Amino acid sequence: MSLLTTLRMTGPPRIVVVEDERAMREMLVLAFEREGYRVQAFPTGAGLTDAVRAEDVSLVVLDVGLPGADGISLVPMVRAVSDVPIMMLTARGDTPDKVRALHAGADHYVTKPVDLDELLARVAAALRRPAIAERDALVFADVTIDTQSREARRGARALDLTPREYVLLEVLVRTHGRAFSKEELLERVWGIEYEGDGAIVDRYVSYLRAKLEAGGEARLIHTLRGVGYVMRHAT
Ligand code: CA
Repeated sequence: MSLLTTLRMTGPPRIVVVEDERAMREMLVLAFEREGYRVQAFPTGAGLTDAVRAEDVSLVVLDVGLPGADGISLVPMVRAVSDVPIMMLTARGDTPDKVRALHAGADHYVTKPVDLDELLARVAAALRRPAIAERDALVFADVTIDTQSREARRGARALDLTPREYVLLEVLVRTHGRAFSKEELLERVWGIEYEGDGAIVDRYVSYLRAKLEAGGEARLIHTLRGVGYVMRHAT
């Protein structure tokens, strides 16, 4: 759907902004309004989910650096009520923040200090492209993984995975059908600096199998005797 069609159908896109610094908040509101967007701005996350629920919101812009609750902690609250694209404003070069924001379910980030032209271009792009299309879903058999929110399911059942179990599952699903030695899995999942041995791989495969098979489902992670492991359909 073109932006023009969207405009005719629903009016200008509505953007919700959460930014505690007043000058920055006012600058964002002004810039967005000048572009023709409707804007609602809050100094804190209070009222955010109500606004997202009540209105037809096209984009949420969240500052990471908020007093009290940080902006990233607001992402799951928004995600609980809406699939609206979320753009985080993060401190320059703060990679952990970016990674955390994307893993929490944010779709985009822009680094501060904000370059207004860049921000407006990113906003326009985010509005053209529904967030759902950018989400990275991996599927094998009845296992689905959302690599942005790092949520995994077996059928309809959500899997409650530790971060390490999640990475192991993601590696196996991405490369299903490929046989891995324990050393290869150690390197991919634990990293080359990790000084453990293959026993930890065995342990995590058994944790992961227990969770994948908790509903009585067929085994997907198979042992290749003398080799390692492979994810494939039951034979
Ligand atoms: Ca701030």
